Amino acid sequence: MTPVSKPYLPDRAKLDAYIDGIYQRQWLTNNGELVQELTRRLETYLGVENLLLVANGTLALQVAYRALGLTKPIDGEPAEAISSPFSFVATASTIKWEGMKPVFADIDPQTWCLDPENVEALISSRTRALVPVHVFGNVCDVERLDNIASDHGLKVIYDAAHAFGVVHQGKTVLRWGDASTLSFHATKVFHTIEGGAVIFRDREILRRAQRIINFGFAGGNRITELGLNAKMSEFQAAMGLCVLDEMEQNLAGRESVWHVYAEELGKTHGAQRRQIDCSNNYGYYPIVLNNESQLLELVSALERIQVMPRRYFYPSLDTVESLEPKEYCPISRELARRILCLPIYAGLDLNQVKRICDIVKACLD
Ligand SMILES: *Cc1c(COP(=O)(O)O)cnc(C)c1O
Repeated sequence: MTPVSKPYLPDRAKLDAYIDGIYQRQWLTNNGELVQELTRRLETYLGVENLLLVANGTLALQVAYRALGLTKPIDGEPAEAISSPFSFVATASTIKWEGMKPVFADIDPQTWCLDPENVEALISSRTRALVPVHVFGNVCDVERLDNIASDHGLKVIYDAAHAFGVVHQGKTVLRWGDASTLSFHATKVFHTIEGGAVIFRDREILRRAQRIINFGFAGGNRITELGLNAKMSEFQAAMGLCVLDEMEQNLAGRESVWHVYAEELGKTHGAQRRQIDCSNNYGYYPIVLNNESQLLELVSALERIQVMPRRYFYPSLDTVESLEPKEYCPISRELARRILCLPIYAGLDLNQVKRICDIVKACLD
């Protein structure tokens, strides 16, 4: 079977050595040695400061909203956060879960990221934040979004779950906004089994978030704010340290798969327009079909040879009832119906990639 993504499994002996250390120290969680080491190593690797490790990428978003003080209602009505309908459901469900209202602005049909003009048109007296997504690692129009936010006194939290290690104009994409969040789920480019991080611009906000992820404790028995439990464990950090050591081969493996797709399929399908001067972490290989029935045919053809592509992102979030959407985002809906992500991971047999390409080409003919 060829899944759309496979977790990267690092050298087992090295992981065992870290676990031996955990057994010796008998310290399993609560900001242990390995969590501290991974924090430092990731800050260096990513070129950021004020990084906070958390239990997953969903909590990373929730903690970011809370730490930035965005969740309080305004005159008895929920505060609004403008976000993208073309994302994983967690981007918007976390907004709602934290008592805010997700407001969906439609995406740019080329880059698949939020269109700043549509964002600006939806700003109201209750808007408190923007939550844009670097879709498939393609950096948003960060300059304009940050400018819109500062013009209107809003905070920006970038959902950077896809943008691990992505460099834009020579610098990390994670430097934009008030915070950026990462997911270290097993299927992501870098992972800690389950895990995530928030990168804050402001050190004071980081300090607050450190208390929030530990029940609001501010040292000793003092509880200074409403908190929850979003801590990363030592076992997760151990996995992260091992995966980080092998990022070069991990990314090289993904890159070689990506290039076979690009060479074989090239211009036969619709593709995302990448921002200029934005590096690729080869996290996904999305293709856009002519219509949904062609997409469904391709999915069946691939499943017949045990290849499991994924409809990602589908459905468009402005159609998900539990989010109580009020907006209509035709560009996102149309793309969501026609987009498919092909399998990509380090170690995927390149002959299998060619077989997948043959089936895609036959379907597109
Ligand atoms: C994976 C993902 C998340 C959620 O992260 P988890 O670690 O699975 O909780 C949020 N947003 C986007 C865009 C993602 O791809």
